Amino acid sequence: MHIFAIANQKGGVAKTTTAVNLAAALTASGRRTLLVDLDPQGNATMGCGIDKRSLQSSVYQVLLRMASLEDARVMSPSGKFDVLPANRELAGAEVELVDLELRETRLKAALAKHHADYDFVLIDCPPSLSMLTLNGLCAAHGVIIPMQCEYYALEGLSDLVNTIKKVHANLNRDLKIIGLLRVMYDPRNTLSTQVSAQLEQHFGDKVFKTLVPRNVRLAEAPSYGVPGVLFDKAAKGSQAYLAFAVEMIDRVHSWKESV
Ligand code: ADP
Ligand code: MG
Repeated sequence: MHIFAIANQKGGVAKTTTAVNLAAALTASGRRTLLVDLDPQGNATMGCGIDKRSLQSSVYQVLLRMASLEDARVMSPSGKFDVLPANRELAGAEVELVDLELRETRLKAALAKHHADYDFVLIDCPPSLSMLTLNGLCAAHGVIIPMQCEYYALEGLSDLVNTIKKVHANLNRDLKIIGLLRVMYDPRNTLSTQVSAQLEQHFGDKVFKTLVPRNVRLAEAPSYGVPGVLFDKAAKGSQAYLAFAVEMIDRVHSWKESV
């Protein structure tokens, strides 16, 4: 089981779009996948066609040990992968976890019991470096960082990288940055191509080869509760996420060989 957190403390950088589409693309290629929604906004939950307002239980109850993962997970009717869903209730966990023991490793512990159930677990983190994101980073083997190629993108990156380093040093020795995914890319925009080239220069093969273009079909899909890669498979954005899934599967294979 490979566990990846999709994190960036900035909002609107396609974390959720990446999580939902990668989950659907991995599932379409036969990988057993669980998507964990760690954002109280519940966008990943809704984007998978699950109504966040009518959940029996959610990731919130799992973190507070009031429900098990078996009880709380729901299958995405459109994507056919399991989702550990979230809604506004999860915002309370931030405060309620503070006084509890092993507060950072609650998600990790919940996932550990399901080691044999999944090939991939994807964790859609909220736009903050909070206790929820910390739970995501503690549970993960690696971090996928979606980034827009704009001037300010690099500024926020150092805070995230420092947080990942701290988690690695203190809480999760397994954690590493898998890669930076360039999203909402516009090749006609000179700044976009410049920042993209800079990223390649600084981060080398930590930058995924796949470039996800700006594509309105990806933005339309969530309102139908269907992952973009299934909503319109031929769209450029969908093709990019399908290619990204192949790239992720290849990376995972090459680790196994190097061990
Ligand atoms: P985050 O989870 O980081 O806050 P989202 O995945 O919700 O970001 O994306 C923010 C907005 O941008 C959403 O409205 C989403 O539909 C849209 N979006 C994401 N990726 C693309 C893309 N490649 N092309 C066009 N719109 C996109
Ligand atoms: Mg999101």
